[in-house]
Amino acid sequence: MPRQLFVTTALPYANGNFHIGHIMEYIQADIWVRFQRMQGHAVNFCGADDTHGAPIMIAAEKAGKTPQQFVADIAAGRKQYLDGFHISFDNWHSTDGPENHALAQQIYRDLRDNAGGSLIETRTIEQFFDPEKNMFLPDRFIKGECPKCHAKDQYGDNCEVCGAVYAPTDLINPFSALSGAKPVLKNSEHFFFKLSDPRCVEFLSRWTQDGKLQPEVANKVKEWFSVRTNPDGTQSEGLGDWDISRDAPYFGIEIPDAPGKYFYVWLDAPIGYLASLKNLLEKRGEDYDAYMANPALEQYHFIGKDIVTFHTLFWPATLHFSGRKVPDNVFVHGFLTVNNGEKMSKSRGTGLDPLKYLSLGMNAEWLRYYLAAKLSARNEDIDFNADDFMLRVNSDLIGKYVNIASRAAGFLTKRFEGKLTRDFGAQGSALLAEIRAAGPALAQMYETREFGKATREIMALADKVNAYVDQNKPWDLAKDTANNEALHQVCSVLINTFAVLTRYLAPVLPALAGAVETFVGTSMQQWDVAGDVAAIQPYQHLMQRVTPEQLDALFEPKEPTAPVEPAQAAPKKGAKPAAAATPADPNAPGGEALASTIGIDDFAKIDLRIARIVNCEAVEGSTKLLRLTLDVGEKDEAGQPRMRNVFSGIASMYQPAQLVGQLTVLVANLAPRKMKFGLSEGMVLAASHADEAAQPGIYILNPWPGAQPGMRIH
Ligand SMILES: [Zn+2]
Repeated sequence: MPRQLFVTTALPYANGNFHIGHIMEYIQADIWVRFQRMQGHAVNFCGADDTHGAPIMIAAEKAGKTPQQFVADIAAGRKQYLDGFHISFDNWHSTDGPENHALAQQIYRDLRDNAGGSLIETRTIEQFFDPEKNMFLPDRFIKGECPKCHAKDQYGDNCEVCGAVYAPTDLINPFSALSGAKPVLKNSEHFFFKLSDPRCVEFLSRWTQDGKLQPEVANKVKEWFSVRTNPDGTQSEGLGDWDISRDAPYFGIEIPDAPGKYFYVWLDAPIGYLASLKNLLEKRGEDYDAYMANPALEQYHFIGKDIVTFHTLFWPATLHFSGRKVPDNVFVHGFLTVNNGEKMSKSRGTGLDPLKYLSLGMNAEWLRYYLAAKLSARNEDIDFNADDFMLRVNSDLIGKYVNIASRAAGFLTKRFEGKLTRDFGAQGSALLAEIRAAGPALAQMYETREFGKATREIMALADKVNAYVDQNKPWDLAKDTANNEALHQVCSVLINTFAVLTRYLAPVLPALAGAVETFVGTSMQQWDVAGDVAAIQPYQHLMQRVTPEQLDALFEPKEPTAPVEPAQAAPKKGAKPAAAATPADPNAPGGEALASTIGIDDFAKIDLRIARIVNCEAVEGSTKLLRLTLDVGEKDEAGQPRMRNVFSGIASMYQPAQLVGQLTVLVANLAPRKMKFGLSEGMVLAASHADEAAQPGIYILNPWPGAQPGMRIH
């Protein structure tokens, strides 16, 4: 009986590109989904951009775009990552889609009009207001000290250190992250979801403690129900009511019958799971309501450990008390650290940049395999280690598994016209039977997300195959045609074991499995295939080894960031007249002699400023230039942020997506230059060698963290 599965990953916030943490989660979920599909189950695997909230509204304003345009531009960049890493979403949608507006409003009405008594109430609350910006401050734009664990520099809605969820007014020593001003308190009417209602407490304590959640997750969630005594002697109650409204101006979904009030982004974000599913089903002409009403439907969410509260308390309560199906489970993973536990930094993107990984020609399935080997069902952090990565890919994946095929294929093609025998001999039959018998246990490991265990078990099976090769030595058998029958037998065993192992690895290595399917002429789409391989096509190389050079390039410390000069034809030299005529001098630093000495007054004439690249795009009609939109902290007469348009000849080195959000250095008082493509208002600094041909490459500058747009460089 095929299962009906609805699977999601957490919705990424649409204010930036994917980082490696997103990709890890998608790979984890994708492996599980592909495994389920191989079992013959019907899966709808949905993702979407989380588009609402003040941070996006503010970022869009800075970029000179509407929020809708801003999130559309982010969405346009998603495909290259998802395709690049073989993530098989059935649909990718947006929380700003019409389905989500309608669903969020209906779910709210259902909570408000709940037959057992409304679960929504309004209260006038005091809220932080930025007197300089003249607006109520969104939670993410208030920072201060966590009231629970006293960690410094935490956001206004929840603490990233201890996970506590609280109101911004609970923060100790709050300040506006927009202006730095000390916020003042102002009254505003807010809408609350009454999680403290005994019905909610009863439902959630049951839902979170009935054994479905990972034990470490259930234990953590349990803390939220208890009355605790804080270090300062005050008491924290159990579940608190949840503030689900925000005041205009806000990019979000309007609350029905409440002009000027919008749903807090975290209310409508998970509803985006349903909206993406609805959008998918409607595109296929299927009925969403009927699909959701199927009692056999199973619903699973893959999420990171930082959003457990939202998914184990707010989300199931929202669904249950609006009369909807609740999730069957939430699968929580830890963070990915890179090279010894240095936590991935979203803002700087240091470490492992997924697009850079792909652009270096590194195989996406190396990463899929490596992450699978590290992942378990537990909520724990995993570390990407470059040496470990190379070892597992080259020694295990290629050395133990891929090589099985290459060792046998040549003999079969040359000696036996690619045909296999079904006579495997006693030893070969036993080996093949043992490998086939491992199927159910491996299936159970995939089902329970024990991917690390599964890959270890598969490699242990590959070890047995390799031991069989070493005992039977096909290269020795091939020396004497009298051994033809034995050679045929051994090679046929190897190809059959290889086909079964490939099927076991297919959820992790879908592209490789596709190539093997062509090679052996047997389906790799189903878990259980009884038949033997009858014949092979000539062997094509299945996978390259990873090289140390690739890993060095991946982790090169230089940070792709800002743009360069507004030159015309010659991207490097056009704006540097002094250097333009100077031939490269191999004995001089960087290939060119130092310029003549200047005084400090001369240097002071050049006004260098920190700039943030708020947008970057290719220039139509130019292969060399990128168009940068820069925030240098300037304002126009109306007091609105003023952006600069600068062209830079760095298209050969950087993808626009790599640069967005990065800081760099701008010559801010350079006379504007009229170029073929528009006005360039300044020049971004970049380094290059004078001998372009011998040492190509142009590298933009990237200040240390802490520098802010507009700061002058002295
Ligand atoms: Zn805390």
